[in-house]
Amino acid sequence: MLKLSGKSVYKGVVLGPVTVFRPQDQLVKRTKIEDPQSEILRLQEAVVHAQEQLKKLYDKAVKEVGEASAAIFEVHQMMLEDEDYLDAIHNMIQTELVNAEYAAAVTGDNFSQMFADMDDDYMKARAADVKDISNRLIRNLQGNADNGLDSDEPSIIVADDLSPSETVQMDKEKILGFVTIHGSTNSHTAILARMMNIPALIGVPMNLDELHNGMLAVVDGFSGEVVFEPDDQLRQAAQEKMKQEQEKLHLLQNLKDKENVTLDGRSIKIYANIGSVGDVGYVLENDAGGIGLFRSEFLYLGRNDFPSEEEQFQAYKQVAQMMGGKKVIIRTLDIGADKQADYFNLGREENPALGYRAIRICLKQPEIFKTQLRALLRAAAFGNISVMYPMITSTEEVTAIYDIVKEVQKELDENETPYKLPEQGVMIETPAAVMISDELAEMVDFFSIGTNDLTQYTLAIDRQNEKLDDFYKPHHKAILRMIQMVTDNAHKHGKWAGICGELGADTDLTEEFLRMGLDELSVAPSMVLKVRKAVRETDLSK
Ligand code: PEP
Ligand code: MG
Repeated sequence: MLKLSGKSVYKGVVLGPVTVFRPQDQLVKRTKIEDPQSEILRLQEAVVHAQEQLKKLYDKAVKEVGEASAAIFEVHQMMLEDEDYLDAIHNMIQTELVNAEYAAAVTGDNFSQMFADMDDDYMKARAADVKDISNRLIRNLQGNADNGLDSDEPSIIVADDLSPSETVQMDKEKILGFVTIHGSTNSHTAILARMMNIPALIGVPMNLDELHNGMLAVVDGFSGEVVFEPDDQLRQAAQEKMKQEQEKLHLLQNLKDKENVTLDGRSIKIYANIGSVGDVGYVLENDAGGIGLFRSEFLYLGRNDFPSEEEQFQAYKQVAQMMGGKKVIIRTLDIGADKQADYFNLGREENPALGYRAIRICLKQPEIFKTQLRALLRAAAFGNISVMYPMITSTEEVTAIYDIVKEVQKELDENETPYKLPEQGVMIETPAAVMISDELAEMVDFFSIGTNDLTQYTLAIDRQNEKLDDFYKPHHKAILRMIQMVTDNAHKHGKWAGICGELGADTDLTEEFLRMGLDELSVAPSMVLKVRKAVRETDLSK
């Protein structure tokens, strides 16, 4: 039995097998081999396995994000059949007597360079795909298929750290909990755990080499403890706690279809936050009144190239249709800082949270922005979509955005493409936006306060820095006063204001938010009914 403590980022208890997540770019060693034939056989098995994995990924992606997005896995399957590529690996094994991993890595690098040097943009983009299939082969050869996530059994993910682009590729149905050595309370892994209603611990001092796939563990998000190879007594205790949690959840189910109204009659909207089309299921299960934040950048993560207009259109339209007329607020691309995709070529920055990110990228690279806006405007014709813009600091930015939106409308008009101009709002997540919220309120339809970044920028605390978790205080008076100011300024101009940062789900503040006059709280789907309960138990007349 091995008992370790960390910091809980989401409560809950789970007992299950462990999967040790290994980062993708493994160091590949060159090893001299004696028997090239058996090495080639290993390679062939790895190729067959890779084809099966890609087929599964394709089927899953078709269901979750549609055929257009899934097509990339078909391209990878075809590339894996390419004779030039496979011959090059075989030759290297035979002539240089090296291990298959090394031959796959070198061939992958060579082919990827060859593609990168081509003039044609489409071919250039294939460089990352060759790298990807070579990495897949290497992982299979090393027995680390899909980073250890190819088992059919749901498991507890144990890792050094997890980036948003790594979690976005995981099959959520197979995750029982997260335990990481690093990470911060406000990371997107924590946000994902809240979305899925599963326990998650960070800052656990584990030695990953001592852990292996399949070993049992209990993760207790209440005590912040994880126990590997628990004894019978602990297993039973965990099962008992899981049962109690299930019962509590069951009781919350009684609040479905009930209104979000206080004892004295004040009502508030409770919406949910999502990161993908697949998350809409959680929203419906938890009876949210709408989607208050669709983090659209997750469509851009964990892949090798930009999602096309058609692919985005299908995703936005699907979400709007699944929500059947309920409001769906889609945030435009908020990439950068912790959310990185290699193909954006953002480069290293000294202070990425203060750097080239979100709306700044969209205004500097309007072609990327226009593709997304076209998809959004077209999808808005199929449901109740609103659009909101992240990381706003000035009225000039909003004017520049509107100019680009007008260009997009003009293009769509010229092509006679059906569309609708949706309601447009901004996120208030910088102190600058708070201070000019009176002017911004005149320009936009609504405000959504992003307390995660607002706390980071107001208190000068990097939300990703695990050392600063104790200093990250979203309850700080400065933040609460800012929320009040933004709400008042919205109302003065007849606009509405909500919160879509994690603070919105903090039931210790529900009464205060109601008193402040907020119109909406957008929270993790798993928190919708808990916040509804808090609202219904509040009496503002007291
Ligand atoms: C926020 O900053 O509060 C927010 C909702 O956006 P994100 O967490 O995606 O940065
Ligand atoms: Mg933010």
